Amino acid sequence: MSFEGAFVTALVPDGATRLTVVGVPSVAQRKPGWLKQRAPLAGPNYRDIKQVMRGRSLHTVCEEAGCPNISECWEDREATFLIGGEDCTRRCGFCQIATGRPKAYDRDEPRRVAETVADMGLHFAVVTGVARDDLEDKAAWLYAETCREIHSRLPHCGVELLIDDFQGDPKLLRLVLDAAPQVLAHNLETVRRLFRHVRPAFDYDRSLQVLDRARRWSDCATKSNLMLGLGESEDEVREAMRDLRAVGCQILTIGQYLQPTHKHLALQRYVEPDEFVRYARYGREIGFDHVESGPLVRSSYRAGRQAQNAGAWLRPAAANA
Ligand code: SF4
Repeated sequence: MSFEGAFVTALVPDGATRLTVVGVPSVAQRKPGWLKQRAPLAGPNYRDIKQVMRGRSLHTVCEEAGCPNISECWEDREATFLIGGEDCTRRCGFCQIATGRPKAYDRDEPRRVAETVADMGLHFAVVTGVARDDLEDKAAWLYAETCREIHSRLPHCGVELLIDDFQGDPKLLRLVLDAAPQVLAHNLETVRRLFRHVRPAFDYDRSLQVLDRARRWSDCATKSNLMLGLGESEDEVREAMRDLRAVGCQILTIGQYLQPTHKHLALQRYVEPDEFVRYARYGREIGFDHVESGPLVRSSYRAGRQAQNAGAWLRPAAANA
């Protein structure tokens, strides 16, 4: 799978050896003021969903990862779910999901996720998961079936499937696209020069190919994410943005990497808010439909609004009232 590490970091207790960039010191971990979390909004929708979740065994990544944006997303009736288990078959240097031998395929999971989405009365759901290279279908069916189950219960609920690269298998990508998600996301995460260090089991060009195929083979919007602070230069970030646009990627999120533990990739710098603003401006100039760029931005941050701006989904009219 491929969702950005900073978002995932609190999800699973640390337990695996991680790649580190050797010979480069990490910056001091004292966070600058702009990374201080905002006070939650706690509006009526957020309170309603909180109430639904209380006393039930329903779980979202939003809560379990302690995402700083939860109140904004839930207020928009948007949430993120992790499927495919808690152990990943890959090992990205920024991610705190445990690497291990995953459990057997749980074919009932799509139904349970969709019921949760319906119980929460969501307008937009992001579904992501761990990489399952151990499975013949790399968990592609799980994504597809979860999307179908959500749409069958809530036809107006938008779905973003945030997938890994399925090792570049075109059949598996087609299987997922046939489920008709509103958004197909695959995260690049970092620039070409750092890619092998950061995502050793992925390949920069193969990731671009996933987005390229999704764009050409379906009507859904395509989306990706970049994580900053790993040693990339501003020119390299712009180059990655152009590479994404060259394969037709429409939505881009850009946020700050935060090192979860000393075993993870060293944090090289805190990116200043002005630099994020420059990327947002540049992204619009080169043709992205939506760029969400800021220190606290995570891939799933207000995903429905991103989809709407890309023309891939329309928020139900009652939700705008
Ligand atoms: S592929 Fe696995 S290790 Fe890499 S970001 Fe996804 S969950 Fe984390």
